[in-house]
Amino acid sequence: MTPVTPPTAPAAQRPDSSGHFGPFGGRYVPETLMQTLLDLDQEYRSVWQDESFHRELDELLREYAGRPTPLTRARRTEEFLGGHLRVYFKREDLLHTGAHKLNNTLGQVLLARRLGKKRIIAETGAGQHGVATATACALFGLQCTVYMGKEDTERQALNVFRMKLMGAEVVPVTSGTATLKDATNEAMREWLSTCGETHYIIGSCVGPHPFPMMVRDFQTVIGNETREQILAKENRLPTDILACVGGGSNSLGMFHPFFNDAAVRLHGVEAEGKGIASGQHAATITTAKVGIFQGSKSYVLQTPDGQITPAHSISAGLDYPGVGPEHSYYHQSGRATYTSITDEEALAALRKTAELEGILPALETAHAIAQLHKLAPGLPQDSLVVVCMSGRGDKDVFSLMKHVEV
Ligand SMILES: *Cc1c(COP(=O)(O)O)cnc(C)c1O
Repeated sequence: MTPVTPPTAPAAQRPDSSGHFGPFGGRYVPETLMQTLLDLDQEYRSVWQDESFHRELDELLREYAGRPTPLTRARRTEEFLGGHLRVYFKREDLLHTGAHKLNNTLGQVLLARRLGKKRIIAETGAGQHGVATATACALFGLQCTVYMGKEDTERQALNVFRMKLMGAEVVPVTSGTATLKDATNEAMREWLSTCGETHYIIGSCVGPHPFPMMVRDFQTVIGNETREQILAKENRLPTDILACVGGGSNSLGMFHPFFNDAAVRLHGVEAEGKGIASGQHAATITTAKVGIFQGSKSYVLQTPDGQITPAHSISAGLDYPGVGPEHSYYHQSGRATYTSITDEEALAALRKTAELEGILPALETAHAIAQLHKLAPGLPQDSLVVVCMSGRGDKDVFSLMKHVEV
């Protein structure tokens, strides 16, 4: 396997030195956290240029996590869509722990070790990022505390149990709506007082600079491998790439290495829940209202006077009222196109993919596949499409049983 080399393309110069992607991003945090973020930025930039760090990370991704993940041709999906396209799935669902999130937590745990931190904290919503963090901490014997909304600890008892089995402490958060945004606030608060010995691992390309950049960089392994694999198989780049967008990490990890290939169309797919008009959705970019949320400037779901409104999606991983600042930049500059898919459309795509391919995708991933189904009739003959399969659906089986009859 070729090593993950630090990106050298101009795209790597975003964000600028103050953490801005155009007008988005930045560091909107209490003064007391500022020095910690400045130090982290500087130390991260030097580690990312360090060859020995990349050797260590590459080996871990290969020998422990199972990289490279396959790029699988989806032949029966091609037939179902009319036979005029080639379709490939990038199989992050086959990564250890069942989703792309481990790419980030392994990278950040290695970084934390280099910074001499002994303890890790993280926030989690459905528990997927909490599990990926607990996994990486167990591997290195680091102390791990995960903040999780009390409501979520009850809905996602299985993931709480998995984290505890791996030795993590799970702290239920009762403030606010007792869900992800409150868990994130609590983790930030805790970090303020312990940042000397603690590293905070954010689970997506969100939060204050340098997090959106770091998480993206750790996820670019998805897009870098895809580029190499598709060139080996097809001898050309994809015409279209699709990925679901929650905070935005699997999608940016996939998109970033193709940013400068203007002919490659990038499609981000948000969760439309019960429809935009219902108000119960997570289509942050589709509704495009700028605000400041959890440390950075981006699009945010909000009321006309700026109060954050709760998101809804059948998939817990897309159920977030914010989105990474780099996506807001991709949207504003027109480099990527954003659409949204309802709960119902995602469920239908999930079933179809299970039947056609013998792959049970995560509900999050099913949003990207549903958009492929919609897009396909309008795509020209011989289009070459890659869908990022961000994770597997085993975690969703209990909620599926409530919605789907077999
Ligand atoms: C968490 C998660 C997502 C959404 O997060 P991003 O940061 O937007 O990638 C998507 N798919 C799966 C399987 C997840 O676990």
